[in-house]
Amino acid sequence: MTDCDFLVVGHGLAGATLADELRRRGHQVLAYDAGRPDSASRVAAGLVNPVAGRRFALAWRAEELIPYATDYYRALEVRFKQPFFTAAPIFKVFGSAQEQADIVARSAARPWGDFVGDIITHDPGLPGVTAPHGGAWLHRGGYLAVAELLGALAAEGRAAGWLRPETFDWEKLVSSAPAGTSPAFVYNGTVRARHVVCCEGAESINNPYFSWLPLTPNQGEVLDVECAGLDAGQVLNRSAYVVPLGGGRFRVGATYRWPPFAEGPTADGRAELVGRLAALTSAPFAVVAQRAGVRPAVRDRKPLLGPHPSVPGLSFCGGYGSKGVVLAPRLAALMADWLAGRADLWPEVSLARYRALWPVPANG
Ligand SMILES: Cc1cc2nc3c(=O)[nH]c(=O)nc-3n(C[C@H](O)[C@H](O)[C@H](O)COP(=O)(O)OP(=O)(O)OC[C@H]3O[C@@H](n4cnc5c(N)ncnc54)[C@H](O)[C@@H]3O)c2cc1C
Repeated sequence: MTDCDFLVVGHGLAGATLADELRRRGHQVLAYDAGRPDSASRVAAGLVNPVAGRRFALAWRAEELIPYATDYYRALEVRFKQPFFTAAPIFKVFGSAQEQADIVARSAARPWGDFVGDIITHDPGLPGVTAPHGGAWLHRGGYLAVAELLGALAAEGRAAGWLRPETFDWEKLVSSAPAGTSPAFVYNGTVRARHVVCCEGAESINNPYFSWLPLTPNQGEVLDVECAGLDAGQVLNRSAYVVPLGGGRFRVGATYRWPPFAEGPTADGRAELVGRLAALTSAPFAVVAQRAGVRPAVRDRKPLLGPHPSVPGLSFCGGYGSKGVVLAPRLAALMADWLAGRADLWPEVSLARYRALWPVPANG
């Protein structure tokens, strides 16, 4: 029998940061990961964008979450002696004279702190960039090499034996604690755990304990392109983002598709992204790869953390939508604090806000 304090199911951004946080606090962790090729973390462009969306609003809790995430990834770079996070200016290209006017008008109130720098109302003449209406320089963002980071953490886990590259079968999990005692689970007759945390990403909609949560899979596609005419020292953002990958390559994203959607990359997704990139650059480019992944999107666009309503010791951590890179580190720490009884969950992320959706079992 293998004993652990925490059994973490899923090793994408949510599970990997949580497992790492729990291990750093001295807990015994056992993680399972099915290695799903369509997991969001495997295709993410890794962008940390302080100002997002058509409203040009500061991202939720940006002042706290962005520096926290940056410091966290920097610490992992030191630990693994490998670069993961690149701080880079983001040029938000204005798509029209109207958008330029709206943002200039809003800039009078400057609600964006030091995240927004120069706002330029003419074509700045950036090499290869089509920006006749100008744009805004965003600071304190950048991009994370998500696959490389998760690869490093997973390699560490496999070598040390705390990560099993297997699908976790929820039918084989039994709660073994007598009523009134601290929670304990036995998995597959071979693993004993005090706590189990579901970090399955969009796959959670099929989880027998958590399928009632208001999670919807949202499929996204990205293209990797070669483009010699663009500067690799900046990120571009208009209706698409263009994130440098090194060696003259860039990741262009992303599409958003609600169910029903086709599995894997599509011709439509490719055409949409090629069109958006062509509107952003006059430089020739060639598509060298196309990927699709599924985001775990939540109805109110806020994460979901916290305990199952009726199974002591079983909890959930995820629902990061399109913002996993910036959310995961701080929420892993919050989740670990809460699991240790040292903090309350923030009301905006606590899954208790959806308690009314839980279908109380007939005997419960
Ligand atoms: C196209 C695209 C582009 C994106 N770009 C960005 C970006 O630029 N910046 C950003 O911040 N975010 C981005 N995102 C969002 C980001 O990827 C997600 O927010 C984040 O990766 C979600 O992490 P997760 O761990 O919750 O889920 P996932 O990454 O889906 O991980 C879940 C893991 O659980 C495993 N799993 C599931 N079920 C089981 C089981 N039963 N047993 C064992 N393992 C299991 C899966 O194999 C997977 O590894 C993007 C997403 C997509 C799709």
